[in-house]
Amino acid sequence: MPAHAVIGGQWGDEGKGKVVDFLAEKAHCVVRYQGGNNAGHTVVTQKGEFSLHLVPSGILWPQVTCIIGNGVVVDPDVLIEEMDNLESRGIDTSRLYVSERAHLIMPYHILLDRLEERARGSEALGTTGRGVGPAYTDKTGRMGIRAGELFDLSSEDFLSRLKRTIEFKNNIITKIHGEPPVSLEEVYDKCLNWSQRLKHHIRPTELMVHKTLSQGHNVLLEGAQGTLLDLDHGTYPYVTSSSPSIGGAGTGMGLSPRDITSITGVFKAYSTRVGSGPMASEMHDSTGDALREKAWEYGVTTGRARRIGWFDAVAGRYSVLVNGFTSLVLTRLDVLDGFPCIKICVGYEVDGDAVDHFPASASLLGRCRPVYEELPGWEVPTANATQMSQLPREAVTYVRRIEELVGSPIHVISTGPRRGETIVIKPIL
Ligand code: GDP
Repeated sequence: MPAHAVIGGQWGDEGKGKVVDFLAEKAHCVVRYQGGNNAGHTVVTQKGEFSLHLVPSGILWPQVTCIIGNGVVVDPDVLIEEMDNLESRGIDTSRLYVSERAHLIMPYHILLDRLEERARGSEALGTTGRGVGPAYTDKTGRMGIRAGELFDLSSEDFLSRLKRTIEFKNNIITKIHGEPPVSLEEVYDKCLNWSQRLKHHIRPTELMVHKTLSQGHNVLLEGAQGTLLDLDHGTYPYVTSSSPSIGGAGTGMGLSPRDITSITGVFKAYSTRVGSGPMASEMHDSTGDALREKAWEYGVTTGRARRIGWFDAVAGRYSVLVNGFTSLVLTRLDVLDGFPCIKICVGYEVDGDAVDHFPASASLLGRCRPVYEELPGWEVPTANATQMSQLPREAVTYVRRIEELVGSPIHVISTGPRRGETIVIKPIL
């Protein structure tokens, strides 16, 4: 009964989309377990480039059943648009299912996300403004609407809950933010449309996943964002509102930890971060700018320029610790081709004192200065390499040093966005 998790080891955008797509060739089912359409995964196939926000990256393999688990928050408008886009490019979405327990992002969540961010002013968190945080807040506040409720829109219970929730939200929207209220009728009409379009796709997905496992098939669990953005383990409060780390995978789809036989951490060969929050190894120089342009580090969801840093092995070690990674995938090694010197952050210092762990406090992390180890770069390109023997000696030294510093074995190296541009040192599935 093998379930395999693929998790971002850094601040997201590590290239999980490519890795999941690559592994999905041998999978029967791919499940997203947290986050919402604040994620953006890019997959490149012979049919071109696909940007996926909610749909699991396995959708591009015709044999794969794709599931949006109960831990995800779903904006049905975005989901329908994404499905339509895929269909228009010849990708069948009839094998895409949404957990009846998944919470819905309602129009008032999107509005409140933007209003709350506006009210934070210079202390804005840098959210994507897609309503993800407010939808999770309502989930824990027991005010959320779940996908399964779209089956029973005319029930007294649903109508009275929706009415009460909208009254409550409108008080905040009008009295605190001074904006016009949302209309109950408009929201209800949206629910009717969603229900007609998505009824076939909403299912008890936990049962589907368990059945797949009991038949001995591979299930891939696809994390969104990354461990350093985890609500508990990330740089709070500059975090996402869900648990991208391994703890979220079980609850986000109704699996026992005993079902998960391997946990793969995806790391970029350098660091990036979107939005606010501390990043000890951030580069504020022309090398950082050159790296951003070469790697085209701009968000799939927002188009925002990503912040760039050297590989942070202190943060990486923490990520390995909280996830118990059984293997790592190192992506975008090719981006470092041609840089004369490559740094790795091997420790932090605050006011001359060493800090040997990843601090819980964002303000302490913000004061941490990186301690770097410098390694020579390489002239021979690693781009498109498919064998370790094709890598220049300096690149191998860099990979091995990362492995040593974070304390987990690298089983796969990605040297380009395409499926084939991959070095398998040891197969993951
Ligand atoms: P995700 O959110 O973790 O799936 O990552 P993104 O999709 O936001 O960013 C990854 C980007 O890097 C995408 O455009 C991928 O096509 C691309 N990519 C993935 N692996 C590699 C790689 O090894 N080298 C290069 N150059 N690009 C890669």
